[in-house]
Amino acid sequence: MPELDRDAILKQMGIMQWVLRDAKGDESVVQDKTAQSVQAMSDKPAAEEPPAQSASVVEELNQPGPAAEPVRSAQVPESTAQNLDALRNEVAACEACALAQTRTQTVFGAGPDQADWLFIGEAPGQQEDRQGQPFVGRAGGLLTQMVNALALSREQVYVANMLKCHPPDNRDPLPGELFACAPFLRKQIELIQPKVLVALGQISAQALLKSDQPLETLRGQVYQYGANNIPLIVTYHPAYLLRQPDDKGKVWADLLLAHRQIPV
Ligand code: URA
Repeated sequence: MPELDRDAILKQMGIMQWVLRDAKGDESVVQDKTAQSVQAMSDKPAAEEPPAQSASVVEELNQPGPAAEPVRSAQVPESTAQNLDALRNEVAACEACALAQTRTQTVFGAGPDQADWLFIGEAPGQQEDRQGQPFVGRAGGLLTQMVNALALSREQVYVANMLKCHPPDNRDPLPGELFACAPFLRKQIELIQPKVLVALGQISAQALLKSDQPLETLRGQVYQYGANNIPLIVTYHPAYLLRQPDDKGKVWADLLLAHRQIPV
Protein backbone atom coordinates (compact mmCIF):
# COMPACT_ATOMS: atom_id res chain seq x y z
CA MET A 1 0.00 0.00 0.00
CA PRO A 2 1.27 3.51 -0.76
CA GLU A 3 1.92 5.93 2.08
CA LEU A 4 -1.15 8.04 2.72
CA ASP A 5 -1.02 11.83 2.34
CA ARG A 6 -2.94 12.82 5.43
CA ASP A 7 -3.81 16.38 4.36
CA ALA A 8 -5.17 15.23 1.02
CA ILE A 9 -7.05 12.43 2.67
CA LEU A 10 -8.73 14.55 5.29
CA LYS A 11 -9.73 17.07 2.63
CA GLN A 12 -11.09 14.25 0.51
CA MET A 13 -13.24 13.02 3.37
CA GLY A 14 -14.37 16.52 4.22
CA ILE A 15 -12.81 16.34 7.69
CA MET A 16 -12.35 19.78 9.17
CA GLN A 17 -8.85 21.02 9.96
CA TRP A 18 -9.45 21.17 13.71
CA VAL A 19 -9.67 17.42 13.78
CA LEU A 20 -6.20 17.26 12.26
CA ARG A 21 -4.67 19.83 14.67
CA ASP A 22 -6.31 18.12 17.61
CA ALA A 23 -4.65 14.87 16.62
CA LYS A 24 -1.20 16.58 16.60
CA GLY A 25 -0.45 14.86 13.33
CA ASP A 26 -0.06 11.48 14.96
CA GLU A 27 -2.21 8.79 13.44
CA SER A 28 -2.14 6.61 16.52
CA VAL A 29 -3.27 9.56 18.58
CA VAL A 30 -6.18 10.05 16.22
CA GLN A 31 -7.15 6.48 16.86
CA ASP A 32 -6.66 6.57 20.60
CA LYS A 33 -8.54 9.81 21.04
CA THR A 34 -11.30 8.43 18.92
CA ALA A 35 -11.55 5.26 20.93
CA GLN A 36 -11.76 7.25 24.13
CA SER A 37 -14.28 9.76 22.90
CA VAL A 38 -16.70 7.28 21.44
CA GLN A 39 -20.22 8.17 22.40
CA ALA A 40 -23.42 6.21 22.13
CA MET A 41 -23.85 6.56 18.41
CA SER A 42 -24.67 4.19 15.65
CA ASP A 43 -26.15 4.34 12.21
CA LYS A 44 -29.58 3.43 13.57
CA PRO A 45 -31.79 5.37 15.97
CA ALA A 46 -30.93 4.62 19.58
CA ALA A 47 -34.35 3.11 20.21
CA GLU A 48 -33.62 0.40 17.65
CA GLU A 49 -30.31 -0.61 19.17
CA PRO A 50 -30.14 -3.84 21.13
CA PRO A 51 -28.93 -3.54 24.72
CA ALA A 52 -25.21 -3.99 25.22
CA GLN A 53 -24.11 -7.32 26.64
CA SER A 54 -20.79 -8.27 28.09
CA ALA A 55 -19.60 -11.07 25.81
CA SER A 56 -18.46 -10.28 22.28
CA VAL A 57 -18.26 -13.41 20.21
CA VAL A 58 -15.95 -13.36 17.23
CA GLU A 59 -16.49 -16.21 14.87
CA GLU A 60 -17.28 -17.03 11.31
CA LEU A 61 -20.70 -16.30 9.95
CA ASN A 62 -21.67 -19.94 9.99
CA GLN A 63 -24.13 -20.19 12.82
CA PRO A 64 -27.92 -19.85 12.69
CA GLY A 65 -29.27 -16.34 13.15
CA PRO A 66 -30.52 -15.01 16.49
CA ALA A 67 -33.17 -17.29 17.88
CA ALA A 68 -35.44 -14.50 19.13
CA GLU A 69 -37.27 -14.19 15.82
CA PRO A 70 -38.52 -17.27 14.03
CA VAL A 71 -36.47 -17.93 10.93
CA ARG A 72 -38.90 -17.93 8.07
CA SER A 73 -36.27 -18.16 5.40
CA ALA A 74 -34.39 -21.25 4.33
CA GLN A 75 -30.65 -20.76 4.33
CA VAL A 76 -29.19 -21.13 0.88
CA PRO A 77 -26.91 -24.16 0.66
CA GLU A 78 -23.18 -23.60 0.83
CA SER A 79 -22.12 -22.58 -2.65
CA THR A 80 -19.70 -24.65 -4.64
CA ALA A 81 -19.18 -21.84 -7.17
CA GLN A 82 -15.65 -21.77 -8.54
CA ASN A 83 -15.68 -18.10 -9.44
CA LEU A 84 -17.63 -14.90 -8.87
CA ASP A 85 -19.59 -15.15 -12.12
CA ALA A 86 -20.93 -18.56 -11.11
CA LEU A 87 -21.77 -17.23 -7.66
CA ARG A 88 -23.48 -14.19 -9.19
CA ASN A 89 -25.72 -16.54 -11.16
CA GLU A 90 -26.60 -18.47 -8.01
CA VAL A 91 -27.49 -15.23 -6.26
CA ALA A 92 -29.63 -14.07 -9.18
CA ALA A 93 -31.65 -17.31 -9.02
CA CYS A 94 -32.09 -17.25 -5.24
CA GLU A 95 -35.58 -17.49 -3.81
CA ALA A 96 -34.61 -18.45 -0.28
CA CYS A 97 -36.51 -15.62 1.37
CA ALA A 98 -39.47 -13.37 0.69
CA LEU A 99 -37.28 -10.56 -0.66
CA ALA A 100 -37.15 -12.52 -3.91
CA GLN A 101 -40.79 -11.52 -4.46
CA THR A 102 -40.23 -7.78 -4.03
CA ARG A 103 -36.78 -7.15 -5.48
CA THR A 104 -36.28 -5.64 -8.92
CA GLN A 105 -33.04 -7.58 -9.19
CA THR A 106 -30.34 -8.97 -6.97
CA VAL A 107 -27.36 -6.77 -6.11
CA PHE A 108 -24.36 -9.06 -6.03
CA GLY A 109 -21.53 -6.64 -5.36
CA ALA A 110 -18.92 -4.84 -7.42
CA GLY A 111 -15.16 -4.82 -7.70
CA PRO A 112 -12.21 -6.78 -9.02
CA ASP A 113 -12.27 -10.56 -8.76
CA GLN A 114 -9.47 -10.29 -6.24
CA ALA A 115 -9.30 -7.21 -4.06
CA ASP A 116 -7.32 -6.26 -0.97
CA TRP A 117 -10.28 -4.34 0.48
CA LEU A 118 -13.79 -5.68 0.91
CA PHE A 119 -16.36 -3.21 2.25
CA ILE A 120 -19.52 -4.87 3.52
CA GLY A 121 -22.73 -2.88 3.82
CA GLU A 122 -26.13 -3.88 5.03
CA ALA A 123 -28.49 -4.34 2.09
CA PRO A 124 -29.21 -2.65 -1.23
CA GLY A 125 -31.34 0.47 -1.05
CA GLN A 126 -33.96 1.52 -3.56
CA GLN A 127 -31.50 2.97 -6.06
CA GLU A 128 -29.25 -0.07 -5.77
CA ASP A 129 -32.28 -2.29 -6.39
CA ARG A 130 -33.04 -0.33 -9.56
CA GLN A 131 -29.47 -0.27 -10.85
CA GLY A 132 -28.26 -3.66 -9.65
CA GLN A 133 -25.10 -2.12 -8.18
CA PRO A 134 -24.12 -1.61 -4.52
CA PHE A 135 -23.78 1.82 -2.94
CA VAL A 136 -24.83 3.99 -5.87
CA GLY A 137 -27.02 6.39 -3.88
CA ARG A 138 -25.98 9.24 -1.58
CA ALA A 139 -24.41 6.89 0.93
CA GLY A 140 -22.51 5.38 -1.97
CA GLY A 141 -21.11 8.79 -2.84
CA LEU A 142 -19.72 9.09 0.65
CA LEU A 143 -18.34 5.56 0.52
CA THR A 144 -16.52 6.56 -2.66
CA GLN A 145 -15.00 9.52 -0.77
CA MET A 146 -13.90 7.19 2.00
CA VAL A 147 -12.27 4.86 -0.53
CA ASN A 148 -10.63 7.78 -2.36
CA ALA A 149 -9.29 9.01 0.97
CA LEU A 150 -7.32 5.77 1.11
CA ALA A 151 -5.74 6.74 -2.23
CA LEU A 152 -7.84 4.07 -3.91
CA SER A 153 -10.61 4.15 -6.48
CA ARG A 154 -13.92 2.34 -6.18
CA GLU A 155 -12.74 0.10 -9.02
CA GLN A 156 -9.84 -1.12 -6.87
CA VAL A 157 -11.94 -2.28 -3.94
CA TYR A 158 -14.78 -4.74 -3.62
CA VAL A 159 -18.11 -3.54 -2.27
CA ALA A 160 -20.81 -5.98 -1.20
CA ASN A 161 -23.69 -6.27 1.22
CA MET A 162 -24.89 -8.74 3.81
CA LEU A 163 -28.13 -9.06 1.84
CA LYS A 164 -28.26 -9.30 -1.92
CA CYS A 165 -31.85 -8.06 -2.14
CA HIS A 166 -33.47 -4.77 -1.19
CA PRO A 167 -35.72 -4.91 1.89
CA PRO A 168 -38.95 -3.02 1.09
CA ASP A 169 -39.27 0.50 2.51
CA ASN A 170 -35.58 0.44 3.42
CA ARG A 171 -36.37 -1.47 6.58
CA ASP A 172 -33.62 -3.27 8.46
CA PRO A 173 -32.78 -6.78 7.30
CA LEU A 174 -34.59 -9.43 9.35
CA PRO A 175 -32.49 -12.02 11.18
CA GLY A 176 -33.97 -14.73 8.97
CA GLU A 177 -32.93 -12.85 5.84
CA LEU A 178 -29.39 -12.39 7.13
CA PHE A 179 -29.30 -16.08 7.98
CA ALA A 180 -30.60 -17.12 4.57
CA CYS A 181 -28.16 -14.95 2.63
CA ALA A 182 -25.03 -15.59 4.72
CA PRO A 183 -23.53 -18.38 2.57
CA PHE A 184 -23.36 -16.04 -0.43
CA LEU A 185 -21.18 -13.50 1.35
CA ARG A 186 -19.13 -16.28 2.89
CA LYS A 187 -18.37 -17.64 -0.59
CA GLN A 188 -17.74 -14.16 -1.92
CA ILE A 189 -15.09 -13.61 0.74
CA GLU A 190 -13.53 -16.99 -0.02
CA LEU A 191 -13.28 -16.18 -3.73
CA ILE A 192 -12.16 -12.55 -3.45
CA GLN A 193 -9.53 -13.32 -0.80
CA PRO A 194 -9.43 -9.80 0.62
CA LYS A 195 -6.63 -8.72 2.95
CA VAL A 196 -9.00 -6.69 5.08
CA LEU A 197 -12.76 -6.60 5.65
CA VAL A 198 -14.53 -3.38 6.63
CA ALA A 199 -17.99 -3.84 8.14
CA LEU A 200 -20.07 -0.73 7.46
CA GLY A 201 -22.57 -0.09 10.22
CA GLN A 202 -23.99 -1.94 13.14
CA ILE A 203 -26.06 -4.50 11.27
CA SER A 204 -23.22 -5.87 9.18
CA ALA A 205 -20.80 -5.67 12.11
CA GLN A 206 -23.12 -7.59 14.41
CA ALA A 207 -23.91 -10.19 11.77
CA LEU A 208 -20.27 -10.77 10.83
CA LEU A 209 -19.13 -10.92 14.43
CA LYS A 210 -22.21 -12.77 15.71
CA SER A 211 -22.45 -10.14 18.39
CA ASP A 212 -25.20 -7.99 19.79
CA GLN A 213 -22.87 -5.27 21.01
CA PRO A 214 -23.56 -1.76 19.75
CA LEU A 215 -21.38 -0.35 17.03
CA GLU A 216 -19.47 2.04 19.24
CA THR A 217 -18.35 -0.91 21.35
CA LEU A 218 -17.35 -2.97 18.33
CA ARG A 219 -15.28 -0.38 16.49
CA GLY A 220 -11.68 0.42 17.31
CA GLN A 221 -10.59 -3.23 17.38
CA VAL A 222 -9.16 -5.70 14.93
CA TYR A 223 -11.11 -8.95 14.66
CA GLN A 224 -10.20 -12.11 12.79
CA TYR A 225 -12.73 -13.46 10.34
CA GLY A 226 -13.01 -17.06 9.24
CA ALA A 227 -10.49 -19.86 8.92
CA ASN A 228 -8.00 -17.57 7.22
CA ASN A 229 -8.14 -15.00 10.02
CA ILE A 230 -8.82 -12.09 7.71
CA PRO A 231 -8.59 -8.84 9.70
CA LEU A 232 -12.02 -7.28 10.13
CA ILE A 233 -12.58 -3.65 11.12
CA VAL A 234 -15.90 -2.10 12.07
CA THR A 235 -16.87 1.45 11.22
CA TYR A 236 -19.92 3.66 10.80
CA HIS A 237 -22.22 3.24 7.84
CA PRO A 238 -21.90 6.06 5.29
CA ALA A 239 -25.66 6.71 5.63
CA TYR A 240 -25.08 7.47 9.30
CA LEU A 241 -22.20 9.77 8.37
CA LEU A 242 -24.48 11.73 6.08
CA ARG A 243 -26.53 12.55 9.17
CA GLN A 244 -23.55 12.91 11.53
CA PRO A 245 -20.69 14.34 9.44
CA ASP A 246 -18.80 15.30 12.59
CA ASP A 247 -18.01 11.60 13.03
CA LYS A 248 -15.95 11.42 9.84
CA GLY A 249 -12.84 11.66 12.01
CA LYS A 250 -13.80 8.43 13.73
CA VAL A 251 -14.28 6.74 10.40
CA TRP A 252 -10.92 7.97 9.29
CA ALA A 253 -9.35 6.46 12.41
CA ASP A 254 -11.09 3.17 11.61
CA LEU A 255 -9.86 3.25 8.03
CA LEU A 256 -6.30 3.88 9.20
CA LEU A 257 -6.59 0.89 11.47
CA ALA A 258 -7.80 -1.18 8.51
CA HIS A 259 -5.02 0.19 6.32
CA ARG A 260 -2.43 -0.94 8.85
CA GLN A 261 -3.67 -4.52 8.53
CA ILE A 262 -2.62 -4.77 4.90
CA PRO A 263 0.90 -6.13 4.58
CA VAL A 264 3.24 -3.81 2.65
N1 URA B 1 -26.66 0.89 2.02
C1 URA B 1 -26.10 -0.33 2.09
O1 URA B 1 -25.85 -0.85 3.17
N2 URA B 1 -25.79 -0.93 0.94
C2 URA B 1 -26.00 -0.39 -0.24
O2 URA B 1 -25.68 -1.02 -1.24
C3 URA B 1 -26.60 0.88 -0.28
C4 URA B 1 -26.93 1.50 0.85
